Amino acid sequence: MSERTPTLPSEERPAYGRRANEVKQGLEAAYEAKVEALKQATQSRSLVADEVDVSLPGHPSRPGRLHPITRTLREIYRIFAEMGFQVYRSRDVETDDLNFTLLNMPPHHPARDMWDTFYTVRPGVILRTHTSPGQIHAMRQYYPEPIRVILPGMCYRYEQVTARSELMFTQVEGLALGKTITMADLKGTIVDFANRMFGQGRQVRFRASHFPFTEPSAEVDIDCILCSGKGCRVCKFTGWLEIMGAGMVHPVVLENGGYDPDVYSGFAFGMGPERIAMLKYRIDDIRAFWANDLRFLQQFR
Ligand SMILES: [Zn+2]
Repeated sequence: MSERTPTLPSEERPAYGRRANEVKQGLEAAYEAKVEALKQATQSRSLVADEVDVSLPGHPSRPGRLHPITRTLREIYRIFAEMGFQVYRSRDVETDDLNFTLLNMPPHHPARDMWDTFYTVRPGVILRTHTSPGQIHAMRQYYPEPIRVILPGMCYRYEQVTARSELMFTQVEGLALGKTITMADLKGTIVDFANRMFGQGRQVRFRASHFPFTEPSAEVDIDCILCSGKGCRVCKFTGWLEIMGAGMVHPVVLENGGYDPDVYSGFAFGMGPERIAMLKYRIDDIRAFWANDLRFLQQFR
C-alpha cells in the first residue's frame, strides 16, 4: 500500500495526534472495563448456580484390605515377636547347596524326592522349595551369637495344583539357637504359639517324625478347632489337625552354619500359613488364595 499524502496542515498535526491518542486510550480502557465486568458477572452467576456446600460429607474413598495370608503372617509375626523372635528374610532364588546339601541332603539323597523342584537354566540355581535355607543364612550371619528368628516367605514346588496343594505358597520357619536349648524349649514355644494363635486351652500333640535337617523330629497337631476333638470331616474324624513340623537342629546343619554342635544346640519348626488360614477361616480350597477372585478376597475385613 502506498502511503497517503498528508492533507493536514503541519501546524494542526500535534493537536490532532494528541486527540487520536486520547481516543485510543479511552477505547482501550472501556474494553478492559467491559471484559472485567463480564468476567465478574460470569463468576457471580456460577457461584450462585454451582453452589458448593463445604459442610457436605465428601465421597468416601474405599480402603483396600489385607490379603488373608498377609493377615495370618502378621499375626504369626506378632505372636513370635512377643516371644523375642525377629523376622529374618532370605532370598526366593537359592542354590541347590543351600536348599538341600547344607541341610543334610547331599545330591542323590532320597529325601530330595519329597520336594519337586523348579530348576533354572543356570546349573545349581533353583527356586527354594522351603524356607529352611534361611537357617543357614541366619547362622552364618549371626555366628557366634545366639539366634531367635522366624523366616517367612514364598516357596515353590513343581506339584500338581489341587484343592490342597499349590505351586507357590508361603512358609514360616523358626530357628532358636544357643548353648542350653533343649526339646523342652521347643515344646514350650510351640504350645504357647498354638494357644495364642488358635485360642487358649488348645491341646497340642507331638508325634515322632523324620526330617533330614532335624534330629529328633516331630509333627505337631492341635485338637481340631472345628469339633474340639470329637471328630469331623475337616480332621478326617481323628480329632486332630496337623499344624507344623519341628525338631532339634541336626548337628550336620549346625556345623554347616558354623556352630559347633558340641557347644551349641537349637530347635527349628516350619508351618504353612495357607494351611493355618484355611483352618482359621474355614477355607476348603487352597487355590482361592492366589486366584485373585474379589468375591473371595472381599470377605476378609
Ligand atoms: Zn474336627
